[in-house]
Amino acid sequence: DLLVVGSANADLVIGVERRPGAGETVLGSDLAVHPGGKGANQAVAAARLGARTALLARVGDDAYGRLLLESQRAAGVDTVGVLVGGAPTGVALITVDPSGDNSIVVSPGANARLTPRDVRAATSLFHASRVVSAQLEIPVETVEEVVRILPPDTRFVLNPSPPRPLDTEVLAACDPLIVNEHEAKVLLGEAYEVASGPEDWARLLLAKGPRSVVVTLGAGGALVASSEGVVRVEAVAVDAVDTTGAGDSFTAALAWRLGAGASLAEAAACAARVGAVAVTRRGAQESFPTADEVEALRGG
Ligand code: ADP
Repeated sequence: DLLVVGSANADLVIGVERRPGAGETVLGSDLAVHPGGKGANQAVAAARLGARTALLARVGDDAYGRLLLESQRAAGVDTVGVLVGGAPTGVALITVDPSGDNSIVVSPGANARLTPRDVRAATSLFHASRVVSAQLEIPVETVEEVVRILPPDTRFVLNPSPPRPLDTEVLAACDPLIVNEHEAKVLLGEAYEVASGPEDWARLLLAKGPRSVVVTLGAGGALVASSEGVVRVEAVAVDAVDTTGAGDSFTAALAWRLGAGASLAEAAACAARVGAVAVTRRGAQESFPTADEVEALRGG
């Protein structure tokens, strides 16, 4: 079973001709509200693939919190670990201009109130899980507590997004640490500037202590690095229409396959197919495929 520990946000999206400057008001399109947040996205992606999935997160006692709970339940996620109250549900205010560029303001809200104590209170969920997956849209102390209470035979997968420096215990627990280019750049700091390219990033990140590393490269696929060396995972060629949620669906699929006993390279190959389907559809959670849809892509 898979446990996702992370954020749940309502994404509030308005299309605009151009973004307002200071003191200015612009009119935009009708408001679209989507369930989002990396934790919520990963849980939905995994459940849709068929993984038995639970989410440990916090939402507000408000309409957006109910929307998030509803989207989790509709996907088949166990929401016993979704705590309610303490602050308003996290919100991302997103404006999108005609070229597709967006500006985003995030109010973490209840996500910032998911505490180490909440993690300790959910010990039974951890013991029921083969794989625990986390990101960094919740307090870093909460992720540190996850690593501390992790049962010895439970595997930990971390996508450090938004990226920030990680302490050695968290790094050492990652199997794998999953980063895109931006996250690799932040985690590597100055070493990024002198590195020769993605394979070098993977090796340098591995040297920081995780048991394994996956670097995702968008349409370039991914690299898997472990003590056995660096292996490339080819992307599946598709016509991408919207890459929102690609990384979340990739991580969820990887965690699902690892929980089923696949090797890291096998799991990453499956995750690349899942990410490829997700980019052929608009939106985040709406774009995540079922296992049958992933199978169909492989055949086609
Ligand atoms: P993030 O969304 O975190 O930036 P990436 O853009 O690297 O992550 O995407 C994650 C994975 O999804 C990639 O490793 C790849 O397997 C798949 N993917 C993303 N974009 C494409 C694309 N345009 N074509 C095919 N696969 C893609």
